[in-house]
Amino acid sequence: MKKLWPRKWKANNFVQGTTDYEAGYPVSNDKEIVTLMGATGDRSIYPHRGIDISTVSGTSITPLLWNDQTKVGFANYNNDFLTTEQGRMVGLETPISYMFKGEMRTDIVLQRYLHLDGQRKVRTDSLIGTPNTILGMSGNSGQWNGEGYKSHLHVDISTGITGSPYLDLMASNYQTKIMSSYYYRDRYYYDPLMFLNDDDYEIRDNAWGYNY
Ligand SMILES: [Zn+2]
Repeated sequence: MKKLWPRKWKANNFVQGTTDYEAGYPVSNDKEIVTLMGATGDRSIYPHRGIDISTVSGTSITPLLWNDQTKVGFANYNNDFLTTEQGRMVGLETPISYMFKGEMRTDIVLQRYLHLDGQRKVRTDSLIGTPNTILGMSGNSGQWNGEGYKSHLHVDISTGITGSPYLDLMASNYQTKIMSSYYYRDRYYYDPLMFLNDDDYEIRDNAWGYNY
């Protein structure tokens, strides 16, 4: 029997029912994942907490995870964010509800889309009406150690300090490429690829290394 760490063991035994969302690849034309969740290397001493998709600047971005309650938590397109680590970014909040230990539970799943260009597409607190809503355009904003990034889209998915038994269950059923979840600064990060089909994307050979 596969050995599970306690959080995943609990998820496996106490999550019932399903929750409502649609998932899709967030860009239409660029299929290549250049940095995987959990990658390590030159960029950081911490494992990468999301995926990087190779995109030409100006590629439109749609939600990876969506339901009819998905709303914009923040939408930072202005120049103040050019020199921050994450650059210009949009954050979406999606409540997912299910039964855990016999009680209804709702987790707010945060998705962040980083390094965008300056075109405003959505506003903070607005509801995302459809899964095809354009959230922003990819770019290369943001800096790490004073250095700019190559043009790419970073997507990460996380929940707050209590994590999410539902996403833990998904993570324990998912054959991760490196790492399915990671706890960092009071949040649990989950591999966005666990929401997608294998044929939605391709993985670059060196995507295990964090060098993009
Ligand atoms: Zn990244």
